[in-house]
Amino acid sequence: MITKQKGTYDIYGDLAKKRAYVDDVLASICEKYNYGYIETPVFESSDLFHRGVGESTDMVKKETYDFKDRGDRNLTLRPEGTAGVVRWFIENKLYGNMTDPVKVFYNMKMYRYERPQSGRNREFTQWGFECFGSDDVMSDAEVISLAYNAYRLLGLDDVTIKLNSLGDSESRNTYREKLVEYFKPHINNLCEDCQERLKSNPLRILDCKIDAENDILKNAPKTLDYLNKESKSRFEKLKDLLDMMDINYEIDERLVRGLDYYNHTVFEVVLNNSYALGGGGRYNGLVETLDGPSTPGVGFAMGYDRTILAMEENNVNIPINDSIDVYLLYVSASEKETACYLAQDLRLNGFIAETDLMNKSLKSQFKSVDRFNAKYLVVLNDNDLKENKITVKDNKTKEEESINLNNLVDYLDMHI
Ligand code: AMP
Repeated sequence: MITKQKGTYDIYGDLAKKRAYVDDVLASICEKYNYGYIETPVFESSDLFHRGVGESTDMVKKETYDFKDRGDRNLTLRPEGTAGVVRWFIENKLYGNMTDPVKVFYNMKMYRYERPQSGRNREFTQWGFECFGSDDVMSDAEVISLAYNAYRLLGLDDVTIKLNSLGDSESRNTYREKLVEYFKPHINNLCEDCQERLKSNPLRILDCKIDAENDILKNAPKTLDYLNKESKSRFEKLKDLLDMMDINYEIDERLVRGLDYYNHTVFEVVLNNSYALGGGGRYNGLVETLDGPSTPGVGFAMGYDRTILAMEENNVNIPINDSIDVYLLYVSASEKETACYLAQDLRLNGFIAETDLMNKSLKSQFKSVDRFNAKYLVVLNDNDLKENKITVKDNKTKEEESINLNNLVDYLDMHI
């Protein structure tokens, strides 16, 4: 038997319905913030993700699905959304003459070779959005506001934004030097990856999952102490805007985010002050890194699968339809044609209709009525049909009525 791959899963039944609901809510709030939908290809040149995400990141070093196609091209399955969206932005020269920012949202499958566990898969969905062209701190506030309110609209009221600033490149460089100075004497007490990170990207030591509880990390210098005047005042402005918008946030000075491209604002959304449901930040250097002109950008990515898990764990009511409107039963094969065309007629008039496709006995058809949780049932029999009549029964009250066949749609319109 061929089974599904580790870290992948099938989407069907109630989960598919829950996802459709979450998609609707998210798409509708993105529309309100005037973000347009984008979908980028599942595979792109390896160079895009390797350079965009950063060669020294765990994601590129350990997690990307890299392969060669039959034309010997180096390709990578999309591990995150931002790099592909930036490639689209550059390729379509959307940077020219920007009088308004370019704002897009996506809902895409991602691929990372990770150790699968609850809420962590190798194929997973991220919903996210990006805003290009504005360096005003108002755009950071807008992105945080969209992320925050999306979770709240989904019924996750107890979300908090964990917020930090890495400052501009000058502040980041000063901080980087301080970190190297601080970690050097302790480096042998940290994991192998951190020893490597000290050379490649010392900020990422703060993100280490292995050494997360190590006092050396806990006592490390904090980014906010090394912000220059401009970066500090920018961060103060952002906090003012979030206060104004009543957004629940907390400063988390250890938050640096795993990717190379962030500057100034970095944030994560956490639920009940535990695990992260998503994260984002400002990435002013990324468009340039991917060969476009210097363009500011800010974005966010939601762990969609984890968000749905969190909704289930927190008993959020996810409205899914578990009933059908009408089941058409027939007594004998001679009524099949009527059942067939009537089912189509009902469906085209907006009703969820079902009939028997398995040549079941009438008794078994009645069992299907209950399995499908039908609101109404209609029994077709030749005697009634000769007079153009049918019997409609309310499956809850068990009341039934004989009506003209041509009035069925009107009847259900009035009763459902
Ligand atoms: P990142 O792109 O790593 O910043 O992740 C953003 C969000 O995506 C995280 O907060 C997680 O909720 C989610 N996420 C990241 N990796 C995975 C994964 N392997 N499986 C499921 N969700 C993930």
